[in-house]
Amino acid sequence: MLNTPLDAKILRSKDSYIAKLKAMGIFTVEDLLFYFPRAYRDEKDFISINEMKKDQVNVISAKIKFIRNTQTRSGKIMTRAIVADSSGEIPVLWFNQAHIKQMFFKGSEIILTGKIKESQGRLIMMSPKYEKPSKILLHTGRIVPIYPESEIITSKWLREKIHHLLSYTSYIKDYLPEWILEKESLMSLEDAVHHVHFAEDEDALKQARKRLAFDELFFIQLEALQSKAIWQKSYEDNPLKISGGVDEDFLSALPFELTTAQIRVIEEIHNDLNQNFPMRRLVQGDVGAGKTVVAAAAIHTVLKSGFQAALMAPTEILARQHYKSLMKLLHPFQYNIQWLVGSMSKTDKEKVLMQVSRGTCDLLIGTHALIQENVVFKNLGLAVVDEQHRFGVKQREMFNQKGRPHMLSLSATPIPRTMALTIYGDQDLSILDELPPGRQEIITRLVPEKKRSDAEFWVSDQIAKGRQVFVICPLIEDSEVIQVKSATDEYKRLCEEVFPEFKLALLHGRMKSHEKEYVLKAFACGDIDILVSTSVVEVGIDIPNASIMIIEGADRFGLAQLHQFRGRVGRGTHQSYCFLFTDSQSLDALQRLKLMAKYSSGFDLAEIDLKLRGPGEVYGLKQSGIPDLRMASFGDTELLKRVRNCAQTVIKEDIHLDKYPKLKKKLKQISS
Ligand code: ADP
Ligand code: MG
Repeated sequence: MLNTPLDAKILRSKDSYIAKLKAMGIFTVEDLLFYFPRAYRDEKDFISINEMKKDQVNVISAKIKFIRNTQTRSGKIMTRAIVADSSGEIPVLWFNQAHIKQMFFKGSEIILTGKIKESQGRLIMMSPKYEKPSKILLHTGRIVPIYPESEIITSKWLREKIHHLLSYTSYIKDYLPEWILEKESLMSLEDAVHHVHFAEDEDALKQARKRLAFDELFFIQLEALQSKAIWQKSYEDNPLKISGGVDEDFLSALPFELTTAQIRVIEEIHNDLNQNFPMRRLVQGDVGAGKTVVAAAAIHTVLKSGFQAALMAPTEILARQHYKSLMKLLHPFQYNIQWLVGSMSKTDKEKVLMQVSRGTCDLLIGTHALIQENVVFKNLGLAVVDEQHRFGVKQREMFNQKGRPHMLSLSATPIPRTMALTIYGDQDLSILDELPPGRQEIITRLVPEKKRSDAEFWVSDQIAKGRQVFVICPLIEDSEVIQVKSATDEYKRLCEEVFPEFKLALLHGRMKSHEKEYVLKAFACGDIDILVSTSVVEVGIDIPNASIMIIEGADRFGLAQLHQFRGRVGRGTHQSYCFLFTDSQSLDALQRLKLMAKYSSGFDLAEIDLKLRGPGEVYGLKQSGIPDLRMASFGDTELLKRVRNCAQTVIKEDIHLDKYPKLKKKLKQISS
């Protein structure tokens, strides 16, 4: 059976290997069968000895004419052999593998895979992989699976053991309904597991991987859609139901006309408010797309109906900025708007908390201080979470315990739509894909080191004309301490050597929040010309007179993040610039940075970066809750769509999956 525990007997192996497998999370036959290769070597095509080419991998089947161990002067064991086939012969050399001599004799058949080199005018095969010929080859002469390895658990060992257990695949029950297998022409799970390890040909491997990729995405989708559907059904009626659209008073009080995209998203939100269950919507929009006013419209509607609202931002700086923006946007309506952050004095906090629990505070803005236990709302109707990817799912859920409010998440991290639908499948998605009119193109350049002083000269000219500058220091490892040091060094260099005539300030994550506040205020009112900063400046800061963004060590950042930095300028009337510096010589890195100059949409850049670097690099999997896929890729839009369709059909047909017991069992197993 598949759940048979692995032991020394069943694997014909030593206990130390079993222990190591356990440490890798592999306990049962099933675990090992589902430990998939990370890559393959295609060594299927045998050639004859006279066809072998230098410096490429050759696979041959030959007979040993001579084999012998000798010792080199340095004490190494050298195994020398000569092998031959009908076309010719070639010498072979291995180091420190004396056991080969025990496995093969003069006259033995042998399969060899490896490179040939020229040595003293003769061709020689160096340390090839070897195997005895048999009906089934595992390590050579086939599509050879390469596994994630771990000390003694080598690919070679895994190939043997997994092959030994292959007969167990007949116990694998396919949990996908027949109609999905047919509609998507998917290979059976049993065959897929077999072929993902030991495929007969490329097509079989492709089909196997497609099947396993499908499953991987399918369960992510199924879980999200099911949780959404169950949650929606759990409401007979919605005590927070609010009908009608956004009101005229709000619109006429705005200092600008809304964009078509803003109007559309505000409508989508108002439709949600009028449903039988609370809203759960994610609004994605590029930096500067105008998400705040969209949130303000929703907040106004909810407050007007007599409920309270909350807005949570990831940093105090950002919370403070939202506080100011919303005070302005909602000014005509005389709401009681308060703010709450960790650094406030106890008495100030208590005052605010009192108003919140009594219901006299209409809108509470702040950091994660908002979701602490001591914050009790009288009747929370709407929770807005800005830069939602900065918060964990759990943190967002904590709002739910404060009255199951409508939830509106905002994000400027441009995740391509199909990917967002997969990982945030439990939310509805709105995309603000239009910037307010009059936004200028930010001129972006990758500046070579030899042009640095020209660029610095040009920048000082701009400052003399009244412009302000951001300098972002490189991301160094994960250590904040090191980052702070490098930012401090760069700050000194700029103060002393480059811009002695201007006023500079330093901003980093180690500073106290009132210090940061002070610096930002001084920068905002023009007292500071150049703000040297670590990546804390990434989100939200709005300084219209700043028109130059300089990014050092730009190759260390993802395109989406560089784009966020770039969004800090171009907010006013002055033509704005983004200059990227890097000391990387890597062609790939330079190529990637050049794309910044070419593309101005964060969504385009994210999509490209996703293809170039994968989601782990682009979004930092651990923080963002984006799952680490083994088989599928978030870049595979077509598959994502098909999977989503199937999952939707299943959930529509049977929300609790009672018609699909195998599917239900598997989903439970995966999500537990
Ligand atoms: P983000 O989507 O990055 O949060 P904001 O909501 O901070 O963007 O908006 C960026 C700037 O654009 C703000 O100064 C805001 O007042 C302005 N803005 C928003 N919508 C419009 C619009 N429709 N027309 C003109 N300016 C707008
Ligand atoms: Mg914003």
